Amino acid sequence: MPAYTAPLEDMRFVVHELLADERLQSLPGNEEFSADVLDAVLEEAARFCASVLQPLNRSGDEQGCLFENGVVRTPDGFKDAYREFAAGGWTGLAADNDYGGQGLPETMDALVNEMLCASNLSFAIYPGLSHGAYRLIRRYASEAQRNAWLPPLVEGRWSGTMCLTEPQCGTDLGLIRTHATPRGDDVFALNGAKCFISAGEHDLTENILHLVLARTPDAPPGTGGLSVFLVPKFTINADGTLGPRNGITCGNIEHKMGLNASATCTLNFDDAQGFLVGGLHQGMRVMFTMMNGARLAVALHGIGIAEAAYQGAVAYARERRQGRALDGPRSPEQAADSILVHPDVRRMLLGMRSQIEGARALSTWVAARYVHAQRNPDAQARDDAHDLVSLLTPILKAYCTDMGSEAANLGVQIYGGHGYIREHGMEQLVRDARVCQIYEGANGVQAMDLVGRKLPAHAGRYLRRFFQPVAAFIADNSDNGDLTEFVAPLSEAFALLQKATRWIAENGTRDPNEAGAAASEYLRLFALVAMAFMWARMARIALASESKNKFYRGKLATARFYMQRVLPQTASLYACIVAGGSSIADFEDEAF
Ligand SMILES: Cc1cc2nc3c(=O)[nH]c(=O)nc-3n(C[C@H](O)[C@H](O)[C@H](O)COP(=O)(O)OP(=O)(O)OC[C@H]3O[C@@H](n4cnc5c(N)ncnc54)[C@H](O)[C@@H]3O)c2cc1C
Repeated sequence: MPAYTAPLEDMRFVVHELLADERLQSLPGNEEFSADVLDAVLEEAARFCASVLQPLNRSGDEQGCLFENGVVRTPDGFKDAYREFAAGGWTGLAADNDYGGQGLPETMDALVNEMLCASNLSFAIYPGLSHGAYRLIRRYASEAQRNAWLPPLVEGRWSGTMCLTEPQCGTDLGLIRTHATPRGDDVFALNGAKCFISAGEHDLTENILHLVLARTPDAPPGTGGLSVFLVPKFTINADGTLGPRNGITCGNIEHKMGLNASATCTLNFDDAQGFLVGGLHQGMRVMFTMMNGARLAVALHGIGIAEAAYQGAVAYARERRQGRALDGPRSPEQAADSILVHPDVRRMLLGMRSQIEGARALSTWVAARYVHAQRNPDAQARDDAHDLVSLLTPILKAYCTDMGSEAANLGVQIYGGHGYIREHGMEQLVRDARVCQIYEGANGVQAMDLVGRKLPAHAGRYLRRFFQPVAAFIADNSDNGDLTEFVAPLSEAFALLQKATRWIAENGTRDPNEAGAAASEYLRLFALVAMAFMWARMARIALASESKNKFYRGKLATARFYMQRVLPQTASLYACIVAGGSSIADFEDEAF
């Protein structure tokens, strides 16, 4: 397995320099988190990931989870690692102090999560879902329910799941059949079957809280008739102790392409006791709290895998000797130069690095905006931040997971045949990364969410929350000659994004198939511009920095690569969008 070292210098740069004007420390509840405290958290997480989680990544993949008589066992070492993880307080990192959490801002949670995903994505999925369950319960459950359910969840003694998918129902949640029959006092009996449920059954925690989308009798058809129910694996007594086993059984676990140490379960509900959370027929609104958080978390799956692939590829490129540099030998004393001298290998490495660092900046910015949406005392500032998070959530989910898969594949390419065989662990990254483009809403569906819901929302209000700061940045910096090489391409690509947006608004309203055909290219165009915005801001900081050390020189050089070699993709994406969707829509079904 390639060694993974958390990119702490870049993470510190993002938190302390790029996002300095977010002033997170001035928000209520954040006052105690000095730069030193945040750095100490990142360092400790990095140590845990390198020493505990990463060594289990390969063995977890090879051993996989074991299903026997309804019981799921995680691979050797996972239980101990989880115990240490929970004891270290990591399960409650961004949870409220009131429930036993550390109360750290979500920016920290995002960066720590990236480390977990880079070192062992299968492991990261277990606590990741618990945090999503925490957010849903905290927002929608009654005070008594919060007090009963949240402390053990935060402590890591219990875990959570998100139960949406059924065999006949994936993207289209209106097809859900699992039903909930009232038994009085917001207690329901659930019957039905869910499939593909991550962490649906395992041996890491004492109890599992399943958050289940189900239909009540006489509910309207489609998504409008769905409600969310909390269904515990073990029933919970009034004093918080565990009662008898609830009517939920694990029917099987899936045998998958990757993520072998993450249990993906079939769950059967037979008169299982469930509690309504967040109001009858409010299921989609309530579940979106968990789904949106999970989409941002899955973006980190992509970034984490990409970072692991990049680090492996750089290490290999330095030591593998093949051929000579085109302009003459670099290591004449050796039989061949390292492959790092070849422009094509450098192109692949820089393609990975520029997108990873851009995506890290963008996702942490969105996490900072999320903190404002939660904690800013000013209602307008909260709403503005919420709009931006809503807009960028599908973009981050789809772009970062596509990037994770591309980077994992490039990692294999740089290793050549040694990447394709199991020995070096690069092929595991490809297998583990692939599903991130599918779960939490397939990436094509994210693109539909962007063009169908987020663009038209409140007459373009979400969009303005992004367009305005980009336009202001361009205006503020267009006279700065040193920045021209970064601001000019940003400005050009931003103009294309605005034109593409107008094109979709006009043509998509006339014919929704036009919006559907343009959606994926539009999402990618948007993501590339959003990352260019981050890169231009990072370049400005690096240029202004008194220290011209290796880190800042690397930042500027990577920003330059991004502007010259990645951002120009926006022109071809724009050309595809405005070509229209007739070549797609008019293709005869029989001809496929
Ligand atoms: C390892 C793993 C873990 C998972 N964990 C969970 C979990 O914890 N909880 C849970 O509930 N589910 C989970 N899932 C299920 C996952 O979320 C679904 O697989 C995913 O939402 C897609 O649903 P589907 O597979 O049925 O594909 P479908 O919905 O059948 O889609 C197939 C294809 O058609 C496209 N498509 C479908 N509808 C549209 C549309 N309207 N517009 C454009 N394109 C469309 C999709 O983009 C996709 O490419 C998991 C799946 C896997 C493989």
